[in-house]
Amino acid sequence: MELVADTGAITTGAGAVRDETDVVIVGSGFGALAAAKKLAKAGKPFVLISETTEHLFQPLLYQVATGVIAAGEIAPSVRAILAKYPKADVRLGRAVDVRPEAGELVYEADGNLHTIGYRSLIAATGARQAYFGRDEFEDVTYALKTVADAERLRRQIVRCFEEAHTTTDPELRRNLLSFMVVGAGATGVELAGQIKELAGRYFAQAIRGVTADDVTVTLVEGAGDVLPVYGGKLSTYTRASLEKSGIEVVLGTMVTDIDEHGAMVKDAATGTEKRLTAETIIWSAGVQANDFAKVLAGRTDCETDRAGRLLVNGDLTVGNRADIYAVGDMTSLNKLPGQSPVAMQGGRHVARTILGKTAPGTPFAFRDKGSMAIINRFNAVTKVKKIELTGVIAWLLWLAVHLVYLVGFRNRYVAVMSWCGSFLGHRRPHFHYAQAPGRPVAVGAGDGDGRDADTLAPVADEQAA
Ligand SMILES: Cc1cc2nc3c(=O)[nH]c(=O)nc-3n(C[C@H](O)[C@H](O)[C@H](O)COP(=O)(O)OP(=O)(O)OC[C@H]3O[C@@H](n4cnc5c(N)ncnc54)[C@H](O)[C@@H]3O)c2cc1C
Repeated sequence: MELVADTGAITTGAGAVRDETDVVIVGSGFGALAAAKKLAKAGKPFVLISETTEHLFQPLLYQVATGVIAAGEIAPSVRAILAKYPKADVRLGRAVDVRPEAGELVYEADGNLHTIGYRSLIAATGARQAYFGRDEFEDVTYALKTVADAERLRRQIVRCFEEAHTTTDPELRRNLLSFMVVGAGATGVELAGQIKELAGRYFAQAIRGVTADDVTVTLVEGAGDVLPVYGGKLSTYTRASLEKSGIEVVLGTMVTDIDEHGAMVKDAATGTEKRLTAETIIWSAGVQANDFAKVLAGRTDCETDRAGRLLVNGDLTVGNRADIYAVGDMTSLNKLPGQSPVAMQGGRHVARTILGKTAPGTPFAFRDKGSMAIINRFNAVTKVKKIELTGVIAWLLWLAVHLVYLVGFRNRYVAVMSWCGSFLGHRRPHFHYAQAPGRPVAVGAGDGDGRDADTLAPVADEQAA
């Protein structure tokens, strides 16, 4: 037998090639990339398989949806990031099965099924929106998980403002200019804040006859306050800031039904139901593990929680396997939050174990460096251990952290210019769109590819966002 590639493919006596490598990584998000970079730097051969070969910086997706930045600025190519490591192989494909006893992963690429042998497998396939048994909500709401989601939402926002500008029907106009965000976690808060700001600082200038007061943004949350994971002073501050900016915050309220033009909501305390109209409803109320988690759970006897997340062992191994690991949003361990630092640190922990730098069985210990959420221009909340910051200071910290993480992007300069245009001026650089009859088509997002091997730098450490 002879090794024919850095990936370890082996020619058998008959000349057929059995695809095999030391480590297979599934995914190209925060967890997968953190593991990949650590293995790559150590010269360990691996194959990274992902259904998207970009590395998406999800925390800034809401800015793509609201025209602040282009998708390319937050979605560099993983191939480019890993290009300088000869033993790293990136493949576009979707993992569909695993055979633990044989040490094989099955993935689909170009409509064909492929099998690849591994000595260690790292799964980091993330999560998607959860609709809590009401999957039909997906058809009548907007999500924010992928670049496609952000671009779809941006097209809808443009459409609503354009149609509101031309319609002579006051009720239709009101509905077009009504936006609802379901779920007041960090993403919901950031989106609600940005849409209101978009109305006042961009569309009110760009479209005659539209003022910020014409635009209704309603933030609906089932818990008793916004940003429930923060609680206390930060939640109170955020709610007050949102309300001051004109956003209607509806707390302790569950969405019971949704159609194309509005939703039924129910007060959890009184049981009172009412209808809220909105042409655009954005669902940001929960997540569930992507499908591959279920496959892994079944093949390794690993339990899952209600969101389908793998209840991994303390060392991030899965079920009864010492050679299969899972990290990030597809897992649940010690109530750690579904945030990028957890995924990145998990990825590095697993890589260290595989490289023999950490003893097998060593529990994963998460170091919490804090979290932050932007409310609107010059206003954010930040929590770093017991230190809680609000307002401009927190916003400047947010800006600094995100600048640091964008440092290595080739087009970071463009992002900084875009932020200046939006935060200091009234511009939304990515709301320039070509208008086809009857349907405006946004262009601009995705028009830069943002590819840069230096992207290694900004995503190498945890963003505290
Ligand atoms: C809008 C939004 C805002 C956020 N804001 C913040 C924030 O401010 N701060 C913060 O810390 N966190 C934030 N998060 C959460 C953070 O982005 C996630 O915790 C992080 O992305 C999890 O990393 P991951 O590697 O587990 O999964 P992901 O980054 O989601 O990556 C999953 C990868 O797996 C791939 N994949 C999925 N299924 C398969 C399959 N079967 N085969 C092959 N590939 C597959 C996907 O293409 C993707 O590349 C935000 C998330 C969203 C959606």
